[in-house]
Amino acid sequence: MASVGAKSEIRKARLWMPERVMFTPAALDQPWGQQILERVQALGLPIDELKQNRLTGLRGETERDTYATAKRTLAVVNAPAGQLKLSPIPPSADWQFHIAEGCPAHCQYCYLAGSLQGPPVIRVYANLPQILGNLAAYDRSGSQTSYEVSCYTDPLGIEHLTGSLAEAIRYFGTRKDGYLRWVSKFDNVESLLDLPHGGHTRCRSSVNAASISDRLEGGTASVAARLHGLRRLGLEGGYPIGVVIAPIMPIPDWQEQYTQLLDDMSETLDFDCDLTVELITHRFTPGSKDVLLSWYPNTKLDLDESSRVVKRNKFGGLKYVYDAKTMRELRQFFEREIARRFPRAKILYWT
Ligand code: SF4
Repeated sequence: MASVGAKSEIRKARLWMPERVMFTPAALDQPWGQQILERVQALGLPIDELKQNRLTGLRGETERDTYATAKRTLAVVNAPAGQLKLSPIPPSADWQFHIAEGCPAHCQYCYLAGSLQGPPVIRVYANLPQILGNLAAYDRSGSQTSYEVSCYTDPLGIEHLTGSLAEAIRYFGTRKDGYLRWVSKFDNVESLLDLPHGGHTRCRSSVNAASISDRLEGGTASVAARLHGLRRLGLEGGYPIGVVIAPIMPIPDWQEQYTQLLDDMSETLDFDCDLTVELITHRFTPGSKDVLLSWYPNTKLDLDESSRVVKRNKFGGLKYVYDAKTMRELRQFFEREIARRFPRAKILYWT
């Protein structure tokens, strides 16, 4: 565990190599599916060409077995038709769209728990040209329209296997009103540095206090490595960049821990850049808690309802969040300390 007061170590994430790559017949019919096939063949990964378009045989004896097998499996499929009808995603962006579903990392608070169905196999979409071609209809002509691509995946964590994030960035570089946003806990940015993005993609890094990241974010790059990757995207790639501090947790020494994080950010992002900040506190639902406990039965993540307050959404669903006093203290701290270090950065939202 990194100690407070010392700059955290740059630990690059090992590129994820699945133990099995499944292709559905429909995916192999797609030129983009063939492009992914060439990539995984070149990497020497075991390939399984399925006879049918449904993924089967993914369940193990226990939920934990199912999780472990799924997280070692890549499935190349076509996006479900329903995903071509976009949904809004406030406060992050106007619309969300998906180039994949699932993620090779092992964050014990994972945002996908409870929102995805079935075993958490990493599915990547072979019909990418169709997915991208569908977006223009959602632009508000004459005003900027933003599209978030990281709601169901970490797109950089699988980029070496797909090339799909680079293709999306190239596509948005040709658009008049459409702007792409993505976020990652990985650092393999090399393949994105020379793309013709035209300023239409904002690259963001998801970061946290080192002790939270080291304890809860398995399989990711260290926070220092993520910030270094973000620096390269801004400085060498010329992209607008952003930092998502999430999930914020009031751990016992939170002021010291987050002060160190903000100091590391300001030391690494010390150049003139277009920077935004998003601030997200930890929350969970009864459903996400159940899924997370089945995936990580020994987790040290605080999922104690009695230390939270209930927040209801307009559909009656509930989530457990920190109480108003804690939220106020955290928010005041972050807004003050960010303004002090990054006077020109825009804080997009606090939640
Ligand atoms: Fe889940 Fe994001 Fe962590 Fe991947 S990087 S395991 S999607 S929280």
